[in-house]
Amino acid sequence: MLNPGPVTLTDTVRQAMAGPDLCHREPAFSKLMSNVRESLVQVYSENATDYTAALLTGSGTSAVEAMVDSLVPKDRPALVCSNGVYGERIAQMLQMHGKTPLHLPGKWTCDLDLSLIDATLASVSDISYVIAVHHETTTGRLNDLEALAKVCIAHKKPMLVDAVSSFGGTALPLQEWNIAACAATANKCLHGVPGIAFVLLQQELLHNHESYATSLYLDLVTNHDAQENGYPAFTPAIQSLYALRQSLEELSEQGGWEARHHRYMELSSRLVHFISELGCNPLLQDGSSSILTSFELPTGISFDELYDRLREQNFVIYAGQKQLLDRIFRISVMGDLTDRDVEQFQASIASILS
Ligand SMILES: *Cc1c(COP(=O)(O)O)cnc(C)c1O
Repeated sequence: MLNPGPVTLTDTVRQAMAGPDLCHREPAFSKLMSNVRESLVQVYSENATDYTAALLTGSGTSAVEAMVDSLVPKDRPALVCSNGVYGERIAQMLQMHGKTPLHLPGKWTCDLDLSLIDATLASVSDISYVIAVHHETTTGRLNDLEALAKVCIAHKKPMLVDAVSSFGGTALPLQEWNIAACAATANKCLHGVPGIAFVLLQQELLHNHESYATSLYLDLVTNHDAQENGYPAFTPAIQSLYALRQSLEELSEQGGWEARHHRYMELSSRLVHFISELGCNPLLQDGSSSILTSFELPTGISFDELYDRLREQNFVIYAGQKQLLDRIFRISVMGDLTDRDVEQFQASIASILS
C-alpha cells in the first residue's frame, strides 16, 4: 500500500482486530479506551500533562469536523489558511456549520503566505483561531507550522490543526506551537485500521468551555466528558480500537515517532532518487514531507495505466486530486513497508516506465 492510508498492516495489528467480543458498557472496554486515549497523548510525550484525547468513530474527516465545529464560535471569524484540498475542506465545513470562516486560499504548490496571514491577523479583529493543515496530503507538503506558530503567537491566536496525515510520523510540539487542538486518525502514520479518529485538545479548553457544536454526534465536549467518565457516548468501532492499541504499542516498541520519522525519511529519499532517475520529477521543489511525495506523470502513460500495471504486481499508488488528477501520482511510505517491498516496487515501476 503506497497510498496515504489505509496502510499495510503488521500481522499483529491485523490479528488484534479478532479480539474477544466486547460490549462498550463493560469495564474491559473502559480499560481499553483509557489505555488508547492515554497512549495517544503520550505519542508526543512533551504534551502529556496539558492535553487530553477525545475518540470518535469515523474517518479522519470526522475528527477534523468535530474539532472545528465544537471549538469555533459562530460569531467570530476563524482564519483558515489553505494550500490544498484538505485546507479548503475545512473552510467548507465551517461554512456548512454556520460559522464565519475567513479563508485565505493559497496556491497548492506554494508555501502558506505568512506575510498575508500576519497582515490579516493585524487588520481583522476578534479572530478566534488560525486553522491550518500540517501535512497537506494533496501535494505532500509539510506546512511550516513552526513559522506559522510564530506569527500566531505574536498575535496571541491559538491554532487548530489538521494533523491527520502527520500525527505519529513527524514532529508536532503542540504546546510550543500554541496548538489548542489537533485532529488525526488511526489509519495513517499510526499504522492502525480505519474506524477510530481522535482529537487531542488542551485540557484548559475544557474548563467551563461551552461547546459550539452544531452536531450532536460530533460534539467534542460531550464525547470527551463521557469518555473521561469511563464510557463512550456512542457505540465505538471496537475492533478498530483493538487494532489501534496494538499499533500504538508497536510504535512505542519501535522507538516512537522519531524512529518512524527516520524510517519514512530513509524510504522516501530512496524512492525520490530512484523515481526521479526514471524521469518523473517531484511536484514540489522544496517543503516536501518525508511521508508522501507527488511525482509528475511522465508523458506517454496515464495514471490509470500506471496504476493498473502496478496493481497487477500488488502495489497500490495514489492519484492526484482535482486539477492535479491528470498530472501527478502520489507515493506514500506510511505503513509496514519492508526494504524488500520497496526494492520490488522499484523493480516494478522501472520495468513499466521503461
Ligand atoms: C486523509 C486526510 C484527511 C481525512 O481523510 P479521511 O478519508 O476522512 O480519513 C484529512 N486531512 C488530511 C490532511 C488527510 O491526509
